[in-house]
Amino acid sequence: MMATIDQAKQVIANTYGRFPIVFESGSGVTLKDDSGKTYLDFVAGIAVNALGYGDEGYAEALKEQALKMCHVSNLYWNAQNIALSEKLTKWSGLSKAFYCNSGAEANEAALKFARLYGEDTRYEIITMANSFHGRTMGALTMTGQTKYQKHFSPLIEGVKYVPYNDSEALKEAVGDQTVAIMVEVIQGEGGIVTIAPAFVETIKSLCKTHDLLLIVDEVQTGIARTGHYFGYQAFGLEPDIVSVAKGVAGGFPMGVSLVSERVASKLSPSCHASTFGGSALGSAAANYVLNKIDDENMLAHVNEMGDVLKAKLEELKGKYSIIKELKGMGLIQGILIDDALPTSEIIGKAIEEGLLLVGAGHQVIRFVPPLIVKAEDIEAMGQILDKVLASLTV
Ligand SMILES: *Cc1c(COP(=O)(O)O)cnc(C)c1O
Repeated sequence: MMATIDQAKQVIANTYGRFPIVFESGSGVTLKDDSGKTYLDFVAGIAVNALGYGDEGYAEALKEQALKMCHVSNLYWNAQNIALSEKLTKWSGLSKAFYCNSGAEANEAALKFARLYGEDTRYEIITMANSFHGRTMGALTMTGQTKYQKHFSPLIEGVKYVPYNDSEALKEAVGDQTVAIMVEVIQGEGGIVTIAPAFVETIKSLCKTHDLLLIVDEVQTGIARTGHYFGYQAFGLEPDIVSVAKGVAGGFPMGVSLVSERVASKLSPSCHASTFGGSALGSAAANYVLNKIDDENMLAHVNEMGDVLKAKLEELKGKYSIIKELKGMGLIQGILIDDALPTSEIIGKAIEEGLLLVGAGHQVIRFVPPLIVKAEDIEAMGQILDKVLASLTV
């Protein structure tokens, strides 16, 4: 079957700006297109493919579960989902898990759970400028970026925005109706912007004095990407609700909303639901990923590779003044590029040279490779990026 991009444009909705590449298969951190060209992948399906491509154990786990049963609905229980929930609550220190199918849905669940906690009197959620929480109406409203919201008014009520890391603005925004503060510990789509220690302290003290819930969107930063199970664990935050998706099931669609006991105690049958949520097949995929992270000590590996990546980017920064700043930690890092060189040119040239990169925010190039990336892959990436930057700068 030879698919052509012209055919695709006849039948696939035009909601994405795509590169003219049709991918066919992958192995490790390498993808192959339909012409046989290979690419070193530092995008990982946008921080999704934790185990890269072609993991036989992962394929085996999916096959085995598919042969037993894929889905039975939430009218009943399934053992894969119970095991997964035990793992996620243990990793997070939170009390209970609710399952859905994407990051946006995890954040929609967070929004509804926060409103339940507010008991019809408090309903307002404070979110951050430049945040990203997804594209459904609640998640879109909580996303503090007007460029995504334009043309979709009216948005939902009860969401306020403050500049990220601005403690004074956050204190001023809290009112009688406020029930929750929502943050990312590293703004991913917003440009790999890390939460400031002073802001962490402000959030903690406001949550305590005003009985506010802290919602942390770990859709991009969760599941070992920062070198911790969840990013908030690196910053000393104690969330009540944690949104998880992207990497959790290694490419199988899954969203999770993890909640503390005080939130869990407000939940009751049919307050929220998702037909596919926590399916046996999805849970089997996630169990495989999470067990592998523990069994193969992948937190230590991510930390180590994070240092290797940081050192490589530091070296390139020393060589090219067009790189203004290094950002992020673990295997979610970025470089801020001077406005003189649009990041799209770097990304386009890198693709020609067989390297996949993705932008984030304004003039940031993001590095979110599969968690199984090796030092030699980072070295190879650095060599290609070096060549690309040399060709685009004088
Ligand atoms: C990707 C992302 C989302 C949205 O996830 P979808 O699965 O695309 O709905 C939400 N929050 C953060 C932090 C993300 O990175």
